[in-house]
Amino acid sequence: MQKYENTPIQPTPTLTDDEQWMRRCLWLARQGVAGAPPNPMVGAVVVCEGRIIGEGYHRRCGGPHAEVFAIESVKPADRQLLPQSTLYVCLEPCAHYGHTPPCAELIVRSGIKRVVVGCIDPFARVSGRGIDIMRRAGIEVVVGVLEKECRALNRRFITHQTKGRPFITLKWAASADGFIDAWRDNADTPPERLSTDLSIIRVHQLRARHQAILVGHHTLQLDRPKLTVRHWHGQDPVKVVLGRVEEGELPAGFRAFADIPTALKSLAREGVQSLLVEGGSQTLQAFIDCGLWDEAYEELSERVLGSGVPIPRMPVGVVRHTEQAWGAHFIHWENTDNGEEEGDEKGENDN
Ligand SMILES: [Zn+2]
Repeated sequence: MQKYENTPIQPTPTLTDDEQWMRRCLWLARQGVAGAPPNPMVGAVVVCEGRIIGEGYHRRCGGPHAEVFAIESVKPADRQLLPQSTLYVCLEPCAHYGHTPPCAELIVRSGIKRVVVGCIDPFARVSGRGIDIMRRAGIEVVVGVLEKECRALNRRFITHQTKGRPFITLKWAASADGFIDAWRDNADTPPERLSTDLSIIRVHQLRARHQAILVGHHTLQLDRPKLTVRHWHGQDPVKVVLGRVEEGELPAGFRAFADIPTALKSLAREGVQSLLVEGGSQTLQAFIDCGLWDEAYEELSERVLGSGVPIPRMPVGVVRHTEQAWGAHFIHWENTDNGEEEGDEKGENDN
């Protein structure tokens, strides 16, 4: 049994004023979760002497950016306060003409003299330039407040931009004795069901949150999975199968790729920022072995199979947490050690 008596009580860290306003930006940014992608989620707040005088977030891709909404929402009576105000924004303001003029220039024109930025935009046409424009205009710019949280919020966008591949989530269910399925060699025997009626909702939630979903050709042949979002709201992801699929064997709506690098490169080029890998064991292990994954979920079933296909082996030393959701236990791994290599296929976006 775990002992708690001697565990020192950790004081709740006190947030600085800048961090508190950045938290507000993060909260606002999340309101754009459905509309902003493939653009990043961004929130912005204008604060004068401890009072919010304007705020906004990026609502939909192609629409105005958070900074535009924030500055435009300042009431006429408060406009004179802008030179004494600070603008908080979780991602570096843009510096290029997309669907909208550069936000960095809008901020300069607004008269705001202090800007606090959560993290630098990795997008090649912005990276550091928005900050340069503001600094050259005499604005005090602070960078990196709640940087980790700000990067985490847009980790899919950032992974796509910096690594030239989608953010990759692995997912499988494990029996209590460590198998993901019984041994099967034909499609007549259905796969072992390790998720419950309730926890299957989590699977469909994950599907709805990814733009593409991938299985190996063996899983496709044996399970004939639909890979659709049926128990949650949201769009069906793009369906991808890895490996050799014979002519005429590919079900409607599926796309086949010969190997992982080809699949990732093609998907990234098409603007796919997130990929869910659902199996089987060999496919999951291939992604793990080449370090091409960002997070992984293992659902822990109470069922005992006795024998079967072993669960994938995760590398040692990776950050892992246990979670409970939809009546089931999950292990959640986060891969913080998959390098920062530059992708050679920069996606274009209009942020
Ligand atoms: Zn902008």
